[in-house]
Amino acid sequence: MRIKFLGTHNSESRTTKLISYLIDGVLAIDAGSIPSELSFSEQQQIRAILLTHGHYDHIRGIPAFAFANTERLIPVFGTAEALNILRSHLLDGIIYPKLAEKDSFLGKPVLDLIAIEPFKTIRFEGYEITAIKVNHPCGAIGFEIKEANGHSAFCTGDTGPGLSQVWNMIHPDILITDVTFPNELASVAEESCHLCPDLLMHELENFQRIHRYFPRVISIHLTPNHEMTIKNELAVVSQKLKIQIDIAQEGEEFSLP
Ligand SMILES: [Zn+2]
Ligand SMILES: [Zn+2]
Repeated sequence: MRIKFLGTHNSESRTTKLISYLIDGVLAIDAGSIPSELSFSEQQQIRAILLTHGHYDHIRGIPAFAFANTERLIPVFGTAEALNILRSHLLDGIIYPKLAEKDSFLGKPVLDLIAIEPFKTIRFEGYEITAIKVNHPCGAIGFEIKEANGHSAFCTGDTGPGLSQVWNMIHPDILITDVTFPNELASVAEESCHLCPDLLMHELENFQRIHRYFPRVISIHLTPNHEMTIKNELAVVSQKLKIQIDIAQEGEEFSLP
C-alpha cells in the first residue's frame, strides 16, 4: 500500500494544504487539496473519493476535481449526512453546477454520490472498505481499507476521543489519525471533537489493551501554528509507548508494509 499525502493540515497556506491523501494513487481519502496538489493526469487516475465527513476542509476540492473530470462518473463514498452537505453547500447549482445530477448543464452526472452505512463492508477495485462511526460531527466516519494481501490502514478522519468501540471493530497495520491540537488545548480538542498528543496516547493505550499490539501511527490534521509543539509532544508519546509516530507532510509518500 502506497499512501501519498497531498494535504495534512487544517489550515491552508502556500506551504500547508487541506486534508487529502491517496491510497495507491487510486483512492482519494478526502478532497481538501486534490485539485491544487495533482496534475490533471494524476487526477484522472483517481477511481473514487472516500469522504470522511462534510466539513469544508475535507470536501473543498470536490467541485474543481469534478469539473476537470467530466468525461466519466466518479464514485464519492460517504455517509448520507456528509453527501447531503456536499449537495446543499457546494454542488448546489449556485456556486457550482449540480455535478452529481443529470440536470446540470452537462446533461449527465459526473459524481456518483454513494451513501454508505457504517459497519457495512464494500468491495471496490480490489479493496475491502469499511466505514466506522467516529466522534465528530457532519456525518463523520473513519475508513478501514484492506488490501487483497490482508494489510490494512484505518483512517480516523477528524475525531475526538472515545475510540474503544472503533478499536474493537478493526485490526489495522497503520493508523492515520487526527492530531489537531497541542496538549495545552486538550479541552478545546475534546469540545471540538479532535485529538491532541495526550488524548491520542490514551486511545493508543486502549488499542494496545484490546489488540496486544500497536499500529504504525501517522498523524495529520495539525494546526500549523501549533505544529512544533505537537511534534515535540508526539515525540514524548512515541518514547513512552516505544512506538514510531510519524507526522505526515505535504507531498510525503509512505510505502507500507
Ligand atoms: Zn471536521
Ligand atoms: Zn478537518
